[in-house]
Amino acid sequence: MDTAEHHKLDGQDILVVGGAGYIGSHVCKMIHAAGGRPITIDNLSCGHEHAVKWGPLERIDIRDREALDAALSRWPGASCVVHLASSIEVGIGERDPANFYSNNVVGALTLLDAMRAAEIDRLIFSSTCATYGETETMPIAEDDPQQPSSVYGKTKLAVEHMIQSYHAAYGLNYVTLRYFNASGADADAEIGEEHDPETHLIPIAMQAAAGRRGPLKLFGTDYDTPDGTCVRDYIHVNDIARAHILAMKQMESGLTRAEVNIGTGVGTSNREVLASIGRVTGHPVPYEDAPRRAGDLSRLYSDEGQAKKVLGFTPRYSDMDTIIRSAWNFHNSRWGETRAD
Ligand code: UDP
Repeated sequence: MDTAEHHKLDGQDILVVGGAGYIGSHVCKMIHAAGGRPITIDNLSCGHEHAVKWGPLERIDIRDREALDAALSRWPGASCVVHLASSIEVGIGERDPANFYSNNVVGALTLLDAMRAAEIDRLIFSSTCATYGETETMPIAEDDPQQPSSVYGKTKLAVEHMIQSYHAAYGLNYVTLRYFNASGADADAEIGEEHDPETHLIPIAMQAAAGRRGPLKLFGTDYDTPDGTCVRDYIHVNDIARAHILAMKQMESGLTRAEVNIGTGVGTSNREVLASIGRVTGHPVPYEDAPRRAGDLSRLYSDEGQAKKVLGFTPRYSDMDTIIRSAWNFHNSRWGETRAD
C-alpha cells in the first residue's frame, strides 16, 4: 500500500474506537500498513470480530468509564485516538433518539474525559456531511451553516461542538473529518461493508444484481436533478482511511485543530450508480421506481479544497468503477462467486 511508504507511523500505537466496523477496519489496516499498531476498542454491537485483524481488540463499551480507563491504561504509549464508533442508521435515530444520544454523545463525552485522564491529547473524529442538513448551495464547504435535519446529524454536531470546547479549555488537538458517502472495499476483499440491516444504495443494488434479493427500490425519480434521482458524493473507504493517516501526520507536525470535508467534489446520481454496477459487474441491477425516502436531500457533494489545503488530501481510489469493482469483489468473496476484473 503506497501510504506505508509516504506516511510511516513508526511503531506508534493508535487507539481506534469502532475499529471493528466498516470504516474503522479499513483505518486499522492502513495504520498497520503504515507501520503503526491499531488497538481496536469496540463493543461489537455493529462491528465484527473477524474484521479486527491488524492489532488487539479491547471489547468494551466506551460508556463504561471504568472499563475504558482500564483499557487505556493497558496502552500507555498511545499517541492518538480515532473515534469512529456510533449509531449511524438514520431511520432508527428518528424512532429511538435516546439510544442515539447515549451511544453517540454520552459515548463521546466519556471517551473525551477518559482521554484527558490518560493524557492523550490527539483525536480524529468521524463526523458526517449529515451535519450540514438542508442546503441548496453546492458544493458544501466547511464553513457553510450546520443545521442537521436528522437525529444522527444532530448527535454528530453535538460531539463536534464538545470537541471544540475541549480544545479551547483543555488543549485537546483534533481533526474532525466530515465524510460524504463511504463506499467500496479493501482491494484484497478482506474487509468491506457488512451492515445489518443494510440500508445503503450500493450494497443493496449489488444484492439485487446478484439475485440475492428482489429489485432495488429507487427512492425518488422526480428530484430537481439532471436525471431526477438523488446525487451523492461517493468516496472510497480507503481514501477515507488515507485521510486519517494524513491527519495523524499533520497533527504530529503541529496541526492543533481542523474540520475537513472528506469527499471527491463529484456528484453521482443514483441512476449513474446503477449503470456503473451493470457495466462493471456484467449484472444489470433490477430496480423499480419508488416514492422518495423521507429525509433524503436531492444533492450533496463536497467542496474538497480544505482537505487538500489542510491535509494534502486528494482522492485516489474514488472513481465510481473502482468503488464498484472493489465492493463487488468483497461481496462475492462472501457469497463465494466470481470476481469482477
Ligand atoms: N437509495 C435507494 N434505494 C435504496 C437505498 C438507497 O434509492 O434501497 C437511495 C437513497 O434514497 C439516496 C441514495 O440512494 O438517494 C444514497 O442513499 P444511502 O442510504 O446509500 O446514503 P445516504 O446518502 O442516505 O447517506
